[in-house]
Amino acid sequence: MSPVNEPSFRESVELMFNRAVSLMDLSPGLENKIRVCNATYTVRFGVRLRGDIHTFTGYRSVHSEHMEPVKGGIRFSLGVNQDEVEALAALMTFKCALVETPFGGSKGGLCVDPRAYEDHEMELITRRFAYELIKRDMINPAQNVPAPDMGTGEREMAWIADQYKRMNTTDINGAACVTGKPKNAGGIAGRVEATGRGVQYALREFFRHPDDVKTAGLEGSLEGKRVIVQGLGNVGYHAAKFLSEEDGSVITAVIERDGALQDDAGLNVEAVHEWIIKHGGVKGFPGANYHEDGASLLTAECDILIPAALEGVINLTNAEKVTAPLIIEAANGPITAGADEILRKKGCVIIPDMYANAGGVTVSYFEWVKNLSHIRFGRMQRRQEEARHELIVRELERLDQHMGEAWSMTPNFKEKYLRGADELELVRSGLDDTMRTAYQSMQEIWRMREDVLDLRTAAYLVSIGRVAASYQAKGL
Ligand code: GLU
Repeated sequence: MSPVNEPSFRESVELMFNRAVSLMDLSPGLENKIRVCNATYTVRFGVRLRGDIHTFTGYRSVHSEHMEPVKGGIRFSLGVNQDEVEALAALMTFKCALVETPFGGSKGGLCVDPRAYEDHEMELITRRFAYELIKRDMINPAQNVPAPDMGTGEREMAWIADQYKRMNTTDINGAACVTGKPKNAGGIAGRVEATGRGVQYALREFFRHPDDVKTAGLEGSLEGKRVIVQGLGNVGYHAAKFLSEEDGSVITAVIERDGALQDDAGLNVEAVHEWIIKHGGVKGFPGANYHEDGASLLTAECDILIPAALEGVINLTNAEKVTAPLIIEAANGPITAGADEILRKKGCVIIPDMYANAGGVTVSYFEWVKNLSHIRFGRMQRRQEEARHELIVRELERLDQHMGEAWSMTPNFKEKYLRGADELELVRSGLDDTMRTAYQSMQEIWRMREDVLDLRTAAYLVSIGRVAASYQAKGL
């Protein structure tokens, strides 16, 4: 996406990493170990479709195995390439460390346009790709656990889980080989909305810190804030929906593939989303201004800009013109390293991707724990009152074993569990706890260290520090 004279996505991530490690006291050897991507597997496989063999290229990259399993989505898009999956895998390492999900970082991708194939064809392609990865332990509950990403969702995850089960019939933990599954196939409530919900919780936490809000040149709360959302896919849609319906923010523009809609009085996110599903784009949506050059709205006036689709959309060609005082990166890598520097100099506050979109992997973690512990969260409320206490204590002990350190971060979750809250409420409160704690850990560094001038560098310092500590503890 970024112009040719800019570093690639992977180089961009590396530049940001380098900026952070220059402020740390790591040995050059350890620094380099954390920087590099451990391995990237490339596979080309054929699937017989429409009377001919179609060859597809897929990747699964493992950035860091300081903790296992490694975790990260699988993307289906024609833009997938090795550089991209490696950058995304690195971001997964730092994301997981920041929100303290006990995973290393990984990412996968398949070069395919899912819209070009029928459902049953996509099933054949997905199962074949999964087969290639499963037989090399690149999908496995203990080693590598994929999840949805761009172009994939519950449907693909259900196919992958089923493929794993067929190939590993006696693995009782098979369901934990992938997260983001449908609820009736081992999934967890609230996973689909999780990344968008996490963006909302991240913004709520930001607005709980008046000094941070002031640094962005804003004041007050999310109420009435003018928000521009780029990409109304799963992440952008849920973030925009929750912010407008629950926090009183006004969605003044939505940028999509075929153009943008603008309405200063606020767009009805649900209606726009339905329109896109029905018509394949935003064009023709009644009652709002349509702009054919959608990207031009990335520089329009607003309080909060939410890039929620592709990497590199804010780059050297438009960064200078961006007027938003606050940007929250719902997508992975939407701002190139060059653009990041320009925006920082302009005083724009950027809530970085590795934090902002960590809601997905956080709830994936809950799903993985649920699958491994074979517990159905929220079952307590249906139990006899007198049996409750003993059972809750026993289940909490089991959960404590699985959740380890991270469990202590979620007092809210624990309180709700004891109260017998349902699964969705539990998941949301656990996510909220996680987003609050993670914000505070990077915010503290941003505020305390004079040499740390932005949240992204602070986020890297926290996560690199944790990855380094983990390697050191293991005695590499
Ligand atoms: N694909 C999502 C991400 O980029 C979710 C990953 C996961 O749940 O493992 O964070």
